[in-house]
Amino acid sequence: MADGSGVVGIVPIGEVKQVVLKILAANIQAIFNLPVDILDGRKPLDKFFNPNRNQYNAATILDHMERRWKQPHDRILAVVSVDLFIPILTYVFGEAQINGKMAVVSTYRLNRRSGGGNVALERYYERIAKVGVHELAHTFGLVHCKENHCVMRASYSLSDLDYYPLYFCDYCQAMLDDTYRRLKLRTLIPRSLTDVL
Ligand SMILES: [Zn+2]
Ligand SMILES: [Zn+2]
Repeated sequence: MADGSGVVGIVPIGEVKQVVLKILAANIQAIFNLPVDILDGRKPLDKFFNPNRNQYNAATILDHMERRWKQPHDRILAVVSVDLFIPILTYVFGEAQINGKMAVVSTYRLNRRSGGGNVALERYYERIAKVGVHELAHTFGLVHCKENHCVMRASYSLSDLDYYPLYFCDYCQAMLDDTYRRLKLRTLIPRSLTDVL
């Protein structure tokens, strides 16, 4: 990057706790081996609110970000605390442009326990990290993975999300490394070192 900024920018939209942004930044930096910046917050995107569904349209938020946001970063992960949907699904934990620049994660449902109440903070933070990593990986071209032990497994519920781990399987990791090579991305630890670790 010419201006020395990170490869990944994390942008809160509306009200999002600092701790959530820091957890996302730390996990993404460690798992993707890429420099991450937490950027200034944006105002709530009221025009993407759908009053019939009482939710926000994730796909149009991504379109808006792509058209209007000019950031030097290669990838942008937006973070919201409102409920997201896409037209074919009741809700989504996040959404991303496959091989694009933009992804979004919503914390709205991630603190819920199936049976009512809330899960422990640790579990809540782990879920946020998983969704953030999963969605961001879509922007690097990764698609859903059938491997049980992979963060790219599709999840349609919180129990799906709790089931898979916060790391890539060997196959997805290799795909990601290929993409970095192709895009000539600046990794935190030089690839020549990670290859032998
Ligand atoms: Zn996905
Ligand atoms: Zn995988």
